[in-house]
Amino acid sequence: MSNNYKITIASSAGFCPGVKNAIERVLQLSEKGKKPVYTVGPLIHNKQVTQMLEKKDIFTINNLNEATDKNGVLVIRAHGITPEFQKQVFDMGLEVVDCTCPLVKRAHTIIDEFAKKGYYTVIIGDAEHAEVVGLLGYTQGRGIVVADAEEAKKLPSYDKVNVVAQTTQKEQTFFEAAEIIKQKSKICQVSNTICNPTKQRQKETLELAKNADLVIVVGGKHSANTARLAKLCGELCKKVSHVETAEEVQKEILEDAKNILITAGASTPDWIIQEVAKKVEIIKGEK
Ligand code: SF4
Repeated sequence: MSNNYKITIASSAGFCPGVKNAIERVLQLSEKGKKPVYTVGPLIHNKQVTQMLEKKDIFTINNLNEATDKNGVLVIRAHGITPEFQKQVFDMGLEVVDCTCPLVKRAHTIIDEFAKKGYYTVIIGDAEHAEVVGLLGYTQGRGIVVADAEEAKKLPSYDKVNVVAQTTQKEQTFFEAAEIIKQKSKICQVSNTICNPTKQRQKETLELAKNADLVIVVGGKHSANTARLAKLCGELCKKVSHVETAEEVQKEILEDAKNILITAGASTPDWIIQEVAKKVEIIKGEK
């Protein structure tokens, strides 16, 4: 293949500060003591990282009853949880380490503050996502989740409404939906809770992807933020490939690609991004 190519690895690719902090803290916990570490839900949506953590006695549990060793440590992941669930976690009597990202906590505070003033809350996000389930828990039982502007059109009008976003939401989706809710509500507070690392990632992607002739998005197939990133790239560049590991990089996709951008979701470790870049170089170097 041609040697006339350029690979750019986006500086925002990979672990966001919230995920990085959670991973580092659980690794420190497992190194420190002999106690098993239980994470409530998968720490991140990346199979390779989850497998690495299991080897270090860091287990994912989906139900608190699965934390069978009473000397174990319960870890609340970066996505955060509802206040009710938080109470249940602390009531278990195990040591608890709260890794909720401060930027998710900021969203909790904003929702809580307005809900206590009687505002209804509309969250623009993915209703199934753990972070959104947690956000909904702060709405005093007066909240709803919509995915986008189309779903926002079906909402009733509100006297007082606070519109917030899942922290990894695409800005355009958030503002379009918020505008529709604003137009049909008496008092509408638009609280942009998209986190700064996500905003930077989106901004950088917008700048780089439109000049690339191939974007390789690296990340778990079940990672919502990676899927969203791949979708955004698809709107800017004709050729996009979403791969989970270097093994999935296909020779065919690199054909004629001169300006190659490699980016990754917030749950993708740096070592996998580097392996993908290496694989691209190897294929491109082949005669
Ligand atoms: S995406 Fe943003 S809010 Fe969510 S964990 Fe990462 S830094 Fe925190």
